[in-house]
Amino acid sequence: PLVLGIETSCDETGVGIVRGTTLLADAVATSVEEHGRFGGVVPEIASRAHLEAMVPTVQRALDQAGIKASDLDGIAVTAGPGLAGALLVGVSAAKAYAYALDKPLYGVNHLASHICVDQLEHGRLPEPTMALLVSGGHSSLLLTSDITSDVRSLGSTIDDAAGEAFDKVARVLGLGFPGGPVIDRYAAEGDPAAIRFPRGLSGPRDPAYDFSFSGLKTAVARWIEARRRAGEEVPVRDVAASFQEAVTDVLTRKAVRACLDQGVEHLMIGGGVAANSRLRAMAQERCERAGIELRVPRMKLCTDNGAMVAALGSEMVWRNRRPSAFDLSADSSLPVTETHVPAAPVS
Ligand code: ATP
Ligand code: MG
Ligand code: FE
Repeated sequence: PLVLGIETSCDETGVGIVRGTTLLADAVATSVEEHGRFGGVVPEIASRAHLEAMVPTVQRALDQAGIKASDLDGIAVTAGPGLAGALLVGVSAAKAYAYALDKPLYGVNHLASHICVDQLEHGRLPEPTMALLVSGGHSSLLLTSDITSDVRSLGSTIDDAAGEAFDKVARVLGLGFPGGPVIDRYAAEGDPAAIRFPRGLSGPRDPAYDFSFSGLKTAVARWIEARRRAGEEVPVRDVAASFQEAVTDVLTRKAVRACLDQGVEHLMIGGGVAANSRLRAMAQERCERAGIELRVPRMKLCTDNGAMVAALGSEMVWRNRRPSAFDLSADSSLPVTETHVPAAPVS
């Protein structure tokens, strides 16, 4: 199926076009720089930016793909979770395009899209697949046997998301926003064994599949504070590397353990933090040792984009899932188990 996907859950206006599991276009406009000086995404600014970027980004995607809008088999859009106002811009646009072009509309889950995007890289997801979803707002271990209808959560963070921890630690190090990519860069020149930061929820009595990053974040902040108070220089690269090591150690250990416990042979890692180079390397190493096939999409597909939404939309069409109704609304806290928002059945 030929599907166009629209993503506006946060600060990226993404429009992607796929045919089956083939990526045809991936156009992204971002308002990230406008949020930088506030140290985080400002919802009103994001919504306004989506509104301005929407039509040109759709046009850019159509041009890139070299297709006509009338050839599409469906329009998919992120219905949630995300920022309510931002989501609403995408949902309204998708409805308008679907209505004007007379195409089925699919309101899909942003988190399931972060997983499904891997199909554009490595072909269909094996069933079942374990997914480690690590992003700005979420950190979960999800088990899926059909990405259009069956996603189960085995565990998730009890406090901060992994990406949030990267962003907060970058802030205390004075590295700017978003923190993930900068920490990744600094860490590459630091010593990951320089400081032993705590691995949250890793004790024998702790829940096996849940995560906690808020203690780690506090430990890093305290360590830096102590250094500064003593009038000593903060070794930014070593702190970045040691913090990153603590995060990736816990994430990969729990993901591999979940696969082994559940007898699942395939692990995919998705969400913005999956762009982290140390996480990718460590996961590769540990999966190889455990006999697990690792699937991680290329970096550009890990962070928010429209192609991932189109990928899930295409899967919805292919599997004959019920489209959404035109009264589809955005749901800022759509649970991960709700892979899409189908129209209510007629009774
Ligand atoms: P969600 O998907 O949970 O709704 P989101 O859409 O804001 O949240 P994503 O765009 O998927 O999140 O990911 C953004 C997060 O990924 C940010 O916290 C950012 O710091 C982090 N990130 C991006 N690149 C890297 C990297 N190389 N290393 C670590 N973290 C990274
Ligand atoms: Mg973003
Ligand atoms: Fe995301």
